[in-house]
Amino acid sequence: KLPVVAVVGRPNVGKSTFFNRVLGERIAIVEDRPGVTRDRNFARTEWNGREFYLVDTGGMVENSDEPMDRLIRDQVLTAIAEADVLVLMVDGKAGPHPLDFAVAKHLRKINKPSVVLVNKVDNLGHPSATGHHDFWELGLGEPNPVSSLSGKGSGDVLDIIVQHL
Ligand code: GDP
Ligand code: MG
Repeated sequence: KLPVVAVVGRPNVGKSTFFNRVLGERIAIVEDRPGVTRDRNFARTEWNGREFYLVDTGGMVENSDEPMDRLIRDQVLTAIAEADVLVLMVDGKAGPHPLDFAVAKHLRKINKPSVVLVNKVDNLGHPSATGHHDFWELGLGEPNPVSSLSGKGSGDVLDIIVQHL
């Protein structure tokens, strides 16, 4: 059975952009698995010869009783429960957000390997690109900068993700 890597995080941080970038470069098979709803995109892919499923989840929505929000939240929690490795994506342009801490707290509790990706660091490699260090506060280890839009850093973060498989 192939390991599952789920990308979680609050809405708009760039989860789907990352998902599409990884698959655009390395896609093997995109498939619908039974019982998987449309907000959770599964795809089979590989990196460095390691095959895995990558899951793009809907955004985390906290403290809302709207039926749709609850549905999305339940699906994200199910995705986390089914995953072997969690990728917590955060927004390096926006900086740490209360919802990031809420998700991080949940991930620390479930005690699975987690990788923090700080997305939207479009100036990666420039001396000014230091804002991702603020995300050490999430308590999930080293924050890894990436720009899913340009693809900068995506190879490095995939190297880190597959190390946990
Ligand atoms: P999701 O809600 O987490 O799936 O986020 P999306 O992938 O839909 O992206 C939300 C917005 O962030 C879109 O407008 C993306 O174009 C933008 N975005 C995603 N990745 C990057 C990035 O690396 N840099 C910048 N500047 N914008 C990004
Ligand atoms: Mg999305």
